Amino acid sequence: MKELFVMPALGYAADALEPAVSKRTMEFHYGKHLQTYVDNLNRLVAGSPFEGKPLCEIAAQADGAIGNNAGQVFNHTLYFEQFSPRGTETAPSARLEALIASRYGSREKMLGQLAEAAVGIFGSGWAWLTADADGRLDILQAPGADNPLRHGLRPLLTVDVWEHAYYLDYQNRRADYVAALWPLVDWDIVSARAEKELC
Ligand code: MN
Repeated sequence: MKELFVMPALGYAADALEPAVSKRTMEFHYGKHLQTYVDNLNRLVAGSPFEGKPLCEIAAQADGAIGNNAGQVFNHTLYFEQFSPRGTETAPSARLEALIASRYGSREKMLGQLAEAAVGIFGSGWAWLTADADGRLDILQAPGADNPLRHGLRPLLTVDVWEHAYYLDYQNRRADYVAALWPLVDWDIVSARAEKELC
């Protein structure tokens, strides 16, 4: 079977995000859970109408098991890519900072609303900062493997609130996990997402 999809490379060591995200969580979350989504997607896409299609197209259009696994591969790729142990040394681009300021007043207020959305998701899902075609920002609560592509929106920043993302480190304290992520956000990467089409 042709391997269409592969694990996204991690731009940092498995222990680089400690203590906010432990090496043990990275080994299970990235190493086991994401690997399973990649393996499932390769198995399911073979011989389907989506064979040979790019990940973002499948994540945007497929439903059922293919849509769920493609969504999870796409979402996790953005999630793991957006962090850096040197996140606090980065800042939004001038354009993104202005978009955030006009919509939310400040980056802190935007992150407060994104955290509220993440904590408020009932069960498993993702909270997203999104942009529409005109650059207007919004926050999306996405259950399961849902993502902004399915809503015609551009994904900028995401929070995985599936329990596998935080349970080893935080158990039931989802809000503490979300708060611990903010200093790890690489705003250079988030800003780049605001400038180019991901799909
Ligand atoms: Mn996850």
